[in-house]
Order: sequence, then C-alpha cells, then structure tokens
Amino acid sequence: MTRKTQRDNPNFFETPQHVAQVNLPAWEKLETSIRGIFQRDYYTNHGPLVRELDERFAELLNVEHAICVVNGTLALALLAGGLEKPGEVIVPAFTFPATVQALLWAGLRPVFCDVDSSTHKITADTVAPLITKNTVAVMGVTLWGEGCDTENLERLCNNHGLSLIFDSCHSVGCWHNDRRIGGFGDGEAFSFHATKIMNAGEGGCITTNDPDLAKRIKTMRSFHGSETFAQVSLRFNAKMSEAQAALALLSLTDLENNIANNKLRYEAYSKGLQGIPGINMHQYKNINNYQYIVVMVDAGGFGMSRDKLLGTLKKQNILCRRHFHPGVHRIDPFTAKDISLPVTDRLCREIMQLPNGQSMNIQDVEKICATIREIYKNG
Ligand SMILES: *Cc1c(COP(=O)(O)O)cnc(C)c1O
Repeated sequence: MTRKTQRDNPNFFETPQHVAQVNLPAWEKLETSIRGIFQRDYYTNHGPLVRELDERFAELLNVEHAICVVNGTLALALLAGGLEKPGEVIVPAFTFPATVQALLWAGLRPVFCDVDSSTHKITADTVAPLITKNTVAVMGVTLWGEGCDTENLERLCNNHGLSLIFDSCHSVGCWHNDRRIGGFGDGEAFSFHATKIMNAGEGGCITTNDPDLAKRIKTMRSFHGSETFAQVSLRFNAKMSEAQAALALLSLTDLENNIANNKLRYEAYSKGLQGIPGINMHQYKNINNYQYIVVMVDAGGFGMSRDKLLGTLKKQNILCRRHFHPGVHRIDPFTAKDISLPVTDRLCREIMQLPNGQSMNIQDVEKICATIREIYKNG
C-alpha cells in the first residue's frame, strides 16, 4: 500500500503512536525547580533534592530505605553486588537484557530459569530445580508491575539460605496483594527511565528494609570517602544528580494522576479488544500502574502471527513492541545453546505491547482496537 492509500484509511494515525510514552511534568514547575538548583549552586553529590527523593520514595513504598542512583541498571548492579555473595543467581531469561547485564557487572553468574505461562514470571517451581551449592541468590522480575510468586519464593529462599532480590523496574506504584512492591525479599530495584511511569529522564532506586544492605549500597553509590557507611569490596559513581531528582520529584507528585489516566486507557483497551479471536490481553488483578498493555497473539486463533500483526499495525503508524524478543538466553554474551526454556520461547514469539501514555486519548485507544479487529476480519 502507498502512503496515500494509508492516509485514506480512517484509522491511520498522522503521528506515530508509541509504547510507553513520556509522562512530562508541567514545564513551569520544572523551570522553578531547576532555577532553585542554580540559586543553591548545588548540582550533585547528595544534594537536597536527591535527599528529598530518597525520603519521599521510601515513604511512598512504605520501606525503610530508598537509595536513588543514576539509572535502573546500576540500581540492579548495586543491589546484586551489595549482597557481597559471589556465585550464581537464578534469573528469568524473559526480561530486559539489563537485568542480566547488571548481574555480570556485579560479578555474579546468571543461571536462566523459565517462567509461568500465565503470569510470565518465575515461580518457586521454576526456580527450585536449578538450585545448586553454587547458588547464592534468586532475582525475580516483577514484570508489568506484578509481583512474582513472592510468598513461595521467600519460603524457598529462606529454606536454602539464598538472598531474594527483584528487578522492579516496571513496578513504581504497583501492589502485590495487600503490600506495595518495593518491600519484598532482601531488596528491589526501580527505574525512572523516560519510558517508565515515574520518569527522571534517566534514574533508578534501590529499596530495602535491611539496614546493613542499605549501608553497603549507600557506600557503593559513591566513591567519596565521606559517604562511607560500611565495608564494601568495590565502589562506583552512581550518584543521582539534582536535575534528575528535580524531574523525579515532579513525576512522583504526578504519579497518581498519571496512573489514573493509564487506567482509563487500559480499561478502554480491555473493552475494545474483547472477543477478538486469538487476542488475549493480560489483565491486572492487583493495583497496577497500567503502564503496560500486554497482549498475547495466538497465531492459530487470530489467523496471523504476532510479528505479521506488528508489521501491519506499523503501516498505520501504530508502533507496538515485542518485549521481550529474543529472550536474554539468546542474546550475546548470554547465548546458551544447551538450555530449554519452552515457556520463555513461546512468550517471546507471542507477546507484544500496545501504545499507552500521556499523548493518547480514549478515542485513540478505540481506533487501535478497531484496527486490530479489522485486521482480523480481513485475515
Ligand atoms: C527499564 C528496565 C531496566 C533498565 O532500567 P534503566 O533505568 O533503563 O537502566 C531493567 N529491567 C527492566 C525490567 C526494565 O524494564
């Protein structure tokens, strides 16, 4: 089809519709905040805005310690490294590569484990067979803002003397049953990347209720002698700047509002996609930030593969993503040929995310759903 005939289609979008659009604060508020940084002449090294963010984020998540850093990947590396236990970490391959890259930077060896086909997350059952004498920790990923099989994993790790940590980069503002994500296991790591619900351009945070782990991570966050709270083997520069904290604090203030708007779009997607054969939208049972509109495409039922649907939507300027494809076990330097992760491989083939965020209204969501319905009808 030519561009002209695309434009004749009433469902064509003039501007591209992206997955995980940037939630921006009001410009005037950011201007005021940045002016404050200039007036104080204090740009980094644990400034007042970073300290305020550490406090407010801990309060939001109801945890003892929140330690903000430059990005989510370093949050993961400091969390894993802060355990100070060399060895193997059991981790899903159905995740963003940074989860596993962070383990390598922390000097740990990843051991890939499969996930549950309905939750897309690790469970005590997928982890247990992989535990050996070399295992020191389990790292779950709270994908789509949902807890893993948390209670069973905590029991399993306690029984084997393993640490339990979580990549919760998707999960700001989310709950697991009656508790906020952030206080589970030994610690959790969050991302404030521009594509996440709470955004500082780049940014991240480690949360924990373990005072000793907090001291080690606070020490590792900075190469400064004056910021030494514990004995650690390796330090880094992961300090968040005041400009990042300014954005993060405004984003934190807007969080509930951004979540409420996401929820409206999520509900419109649920309604709009209902009954389309082969299209299964992942439904959230706990309080979520509704940042991720996750759809499973069953090629048999829909009459077209996920990749073919993705390409067809792209022509309409609807830019979906296939997080995650391929699985991390199929990416260098992690490529593992002698490993079978059948559920992960299927999810990598069938899952995609639909556009969501600040620049979309309900009509846009309805238009996307109508387009998918039409694609089904036209085979
Ligand atoms: C975004 C993300 C990361 C990396 O966070 P950055 O802040 O971009 O470094 C890690 N893991 C998951 C699951 C993510 O979604």
